[in-house]
Amino acid sequence: MLLPHALPLALPLLGLAAAHTGCGGHEIARRNPGGRVIHARQQVDKNNVDPASECTPYTYPPVNAVKSQYPAIWSSATLVPGDDAAATLFASINATLNQRLPNTQPRGTHMGDWTGVNYPPNDPDCWWTWKQCTTPAADTGIAADISTMPEPETWGFGFDDGPNCSHNALYNFLEENNQKATMFFIGSNVMDWPLQAIRAKDDGHQICVHTWSHQYMTSFSNEQAFAELYYTRKAIKDVIGVTPKCWRPPFGDTDNRIRLIASLLNMTTVLWSDDTDDWKVGIGGVTAQDVDNNYAKVINASKAGAYATHGPVVLNHEINNYTMGEMIKQYPNIKAAFKYIVPIATGLNITNPYQETDVTYPTFAQYTGNTAGASSSSSSSPSSSAVGSGSASAAGSASGSASSAAKASASLASKNNSGAGAAPSVSAASLLLGLTAALLI
Ligand SMILES: [Zn+2]
Repeated sequence: MLLPHALPLALPLLGLAAAHTGCGGHEIARRNPGGRVIHARQQVDKNNVDPASECTPYTYPPVNAVKSQYPAIWSSATLVPGDDAAATLFASINATLNQRLPNTQPRGTHMGDWTGVNYPPNDPDCWWTWKQCTTPAADTGIAADISTMPEPETWGFGFDDGPNCSHNALYNFLEENNQKATMFFIGSNVMDWPLQAIRAKDDGHQICVHTWSHQYMTSFSNEQAFAELYYTRKAIKDVIGVTPKCWRPPFGDTDNRIRLIASLLNMTTVLWSDDTDDWKVGIGGVTAQDVDNNYAKVINASKAGAYATHGPVVLNHEINNYTMGEMIKQYPNIKAAFKYIVPIATGLNITNPYQETDVTYPTFAQYTGNTAGASSSSSSSPSSSAVGSGSASAAGSASGSASSAAKASASLASKNNSGAGAAPSVSAASLLLGLTAALLI
């Protein structure tokens, strides 16, 4: 009975392990606290587009100065002993959780093994991993996730899993095209590659949270889930200087309990409507052609008029040089098929994407140049003045990087799948069927 479902189910599970390796173990291997010291005012050399050189480990004193205030990098986050501010905030949030969702428990393992989990088929927790639920029942009072853009013919543009140490080719490309995006940053990556994180902000990209250790959020206790979000947000504040009001769950794995924790931290949950599967190339038989096809599916849908009243939010990654190069390759195709390519905040007309109100983003109309008085040009590309912060330097241009796109496109990063290890299984037939069905959507 299980055989027909075994293969499709194995795809995401293998991918999960590999994704974690890519987001976690690989970076751990590169981390080297004893590397070259780079001082606070030093910037990334944008002209360096050699991945190996870009990923030379370095030590950044401002991060070293605060590291003791954080969980160990790439470990499952918990409250740091002595962090009274975090403990007080968590106690308040936990009291609300226990009052509003007293029966919702963690499920599965941090790596996405749901063996023995028997989830009710009516999806009481609006668990995304079960059937891609993004709209909690009205009586929960929990807001729906963001998974589409309200503007027609508009591509909601973002990258997961950064900051990647070798992202200069991509960021130069975006800069040359005056294109902003939403970057969903992993807290441990921010601590490992702080200058790369700073570049994202300086280039005018929107920054959102993508958890501390990039594991399955619904598997965590209330305290762990809080810590995964809290310390990533804190890292972004400490390193970049802004406090995000948005997050995206790794693997999409969220439910009402996790959504409520995020919302009590003043963070909106952002999912997606379409997935390129770009990170999965080489895993479970997924090929680069499959990824091309996934992009083409969204692009062709737009050409066929599917986005006359709204736009997709499309999932792709900053995880390696292949995924970044693939976006560079696809960008002209996207631009030809969509009127606008916008960061999530801009698509939603969120002009204050951070708690710091002095940092402002343009409205959708301003960004796309469709209003008098907007600072941007009349093209679909935004102005370089996407960020109003005095500390931003979004106007900087990247010279000598014309070949970066080709270089990034040509480089297919090798994936370290050695940690694929456990092949989780799901014993509950109903869960198996639900997950299998989900794969076919
Ligand atoms: Zn991710």
